Amino acid sequence: MDARALAALAANPGCKRRALLDGAGVDKGALATALGSPAPFGQSQFAFMRGNAFEARVKADGGTELMRLLYERLGGPGEPPREVRVPDLTAAGPEGRAARTALALREATGAGGWALLDHPMLALEVAGSPAYLEPDAVVVHPDGTWTVVEIKSFPMIDGSADAAKVGAAARQSAVYVLALERVAEVTDGARVGHRVLLVCPKDFSNLPAASVVDVRKQRAVTRRQLTRLTRVEEIAAALPEGTTFDPERSPEELETAVEAVTAAYAPECLSSCELAFHCRTRARAEGAVEALGRGVRGELGGLTTVAGVLAAAAGKEGDPADPAVAALRRAAALRAEALEGRPVCH
Ligand code: SF4
Repeated sequence: MDARALAALAANPGCKRRALLDGAGVDKGALATALGSPAPFGQSQFAFMRGNAFEARVKADGGTELMRLLYERLGGPGEPPREVRVPDLTAAGPEGRAARTALALREATGAGGWALLDHPMLALEVAGSPAYLEPDAVVVHPDGTWTVVEIKSFPMIDGSADAAKVGAAARQSAVYVLALERVAEVTDGARVGHRVLLVCPKDFSNLPAASVVDVRKQRAVTRRQLTRLTRVEEIAAALPEGTTFDPERSPEELETAVEAVTAAYAPECLSSCELAFHCRTRARAEGAVEALGRGVRGELGGLTTVAGVLAAAAGKEGDPADPAVAALRRAAALRAEALEGRPVCH
């Protein structure tokens, strides 16, 4: 699971399907294609290469430009960094890299200068399984503050970027902050900053621009949601013997396997989960009100199906004392009046 998957999971903690598939490392994009409902999104190869080229540019020359931007936005008093250590973080396997990163963070904090950790590896236990996360960079300040740096390829125009994309980057960074806090807990003098540095191309150029994003709220929400996740072993234990999500299997077999795990579809899935089209079709077929959005679901109280809502509105079902039923009947009456062409009274 990467930070993006964890942030999406934290945004929908009730979905056991996603928790299991991500925990098991199933390629959800390939699974969605095998089910006949390919993912509604994805990064093109061109966008991927452009993003990599931009990140390399930002980090060129030992991170000179990156450190300049960071100091400009978050440096505080004192001299701008002249000397920045860039520790070697290579090690075998994710566990080895996470241990190497923790050691480099401790050494840099103890040394008291500036250090730039390029693609460190962080570990976080999620639903009983370890997840390894790789932020673009982490900077250690001389005062022991650790700052997460996220480098994105969407443009920052006149100092501001697309709010939805910044929100997604903030949720992702909040996951890194949580993972870094595990290391900081056992490092003398370390403190994880809750303000992260977001670096994007300036306007439509290839030059970097930076802004500071406060992720305190996203961190608190993500932390709470991650503790609510059901353990992956418990979800797996409830599956029928021999269940497989191998995309090479037939669509019928995969459909049965996927339906064996409960989902919690919401329209937000469309921008964050590869299985969104599949789950939306199922939710609609079942008439689940969740398919209309969490806000609508909340307003409808105990009414869980579209058929139940329509029956309540038509006066065929439901307790008239229930505020949701009363509101639906009033709305149905207003609609009927409007359709008859008579003036609507409020
Ligand atoms: S699309 Fe389906 S599997 Fe993915 S988070 Fe939504 S409900 Fe869960």
